[in-house]
Amino acid sequence: MSILVLNAGSSSVKFGVFDFDTLEPTARGILDWAGAARRATITLKPPHGEPLRQAIDAPDYRTGVIHALNLLKPCPPRLGDQSVAERRFRVVGHRLIHGGEEIRRPVVIDAEMKKTIRRFIHLAPLHIPAGLEAIEAAEAALPGALQVGLFDTAFFADIPPAAYLYPVPYSWYEAWGIRRFGFHGTSHAYCTERAAEMLCRPPAPLRLVICHLGQGSSATAVRDGVAITNTMGFTPLEGFMMGTRSGTVDPGILLFVLREKGLSVAELDAILHHKSGLLGISGISSDFRQVEAAALAGHGRARLAIDIYAYRVRTMIGALAVTLGGLDALVFTGGIGENSVWLRNEVCKGLECLGVHLDARRNASLAPDDDVATKDSKARVLLIHTREDYMIAREARRLALEAETPGKHNSP
Ligand code: ADP
Repeated sequence: MSILVLNAGSSSVKFGVFDFDTLEPTARGILDWAGAARRATITLKPPHGEPLRQAIDAPDYRTGVIHALNLLKPCPPRLGDQSVAERRFRVVGHRLIHGGEEIRRPVVIDAEMKKTIRRFIHLAPLHIPAGLEAIEAAEAALPGALQVGLFDTAFFADIPPAAYLYPVPYSWYEAWGIRRFGFHGTSHAYCTERAAEMLCRPPAPLRLVICHLGQGSSATAVRDGVAITNTMGFTPLEGFMMGTRSGTVDPGILLFVLREKGLSVAELDAILHHKSGLLGISGISSDFRQVEAAALAGHGRARLAIDIYAYRVRTMIGALAVTLGGLDALVFTGGIGENSVWLRNEVCKGLECLGVHLDARRNASLAPDDDVATKDSKARVLLIHTREDYMIAREARRLALEAETPGKHNSP
């Protein structure tokens, strides 16, 4: 028995297969539509051995997911066929970006729940339709499997109003639902549990700042295992500088360029999402590793880009740690957080006042999951390899087992 995990983005679906009993991953892959609307590339990575890559005709996610399932097992499923695949996959777990204010925990996805999710489309217009399409693809390919959704926003359900309200007219919140939500919740939830495990302490008394630094980046302040705030807001555009996203900027700038420089709303949207951040400053790339390499080779604007990046991460960690009244551990995760020795070193300079003392040698030599603080550092510095797909598989299994228990119901 297996669990299928689907993580649908605007032009790709990442998938993973986990053993139902052990939660060990048995295969991972990605369906990627970048470049051509009706053709996708499937890359399948077995835990051992060479990745398999295939170009396929796939006008939609449904065809793509069925192709992926064909590659995953010896007996291919056909649409609506009660086949081997259906018996093998007992549950499908979906990563969904937005659950609005209503969805506070993992849910079983049925027709009613899909209607609820559709109500949030305006909050994530690229990602929610993609997530719904992946749900429908899985329903078509595996009609007997339970569908379960985990929402990026759910970990932030208990953020207090003082942290989630913007100082704009209160009617914007009442009438339009404008408030801060927070994103990357599944990763932050995993790191919260993993940090407690690494520190051999229950999550309850811990004050954590978790920095998820990848192509998209955010940090969360966690106290007693509960998220207090996250640097992303109404959308994932707020907070840190990112690969191509600006992160937080003075809203006055936006008014200025609209009013005085003749930018259209569509142009401004494209610039803030796709032409800012590391790419916008360096002019070279949105990829941190490439920008860091160029900076080390003497490229001035690349240097500036990573300096701004580190500065902003450091200042926001400071704000979050103060919100918590101190820091027991600072966690780095995501592609940049887990891998860039330079970034961690740079960010931790100046955090000594919060009790953070990075051990330069350990920082340069250790890999996730490990503690790279000095022995006497009051706050620990943890590198954690985030495992969002494992969290989705684990929660999907939990709900699948609950669904078989009489008397359990599906409340968001
Ligand atoms: P996503 O948010 O798409 O899941 P990841 O968490 O994989 O992305 O992070 C991707 C980022 O991590 C890229 O900017 C990449 O350059 C960066 N990265 C990966 N490896 C390294 C490394 N060794 N040094 C610095 N940055 C790295």
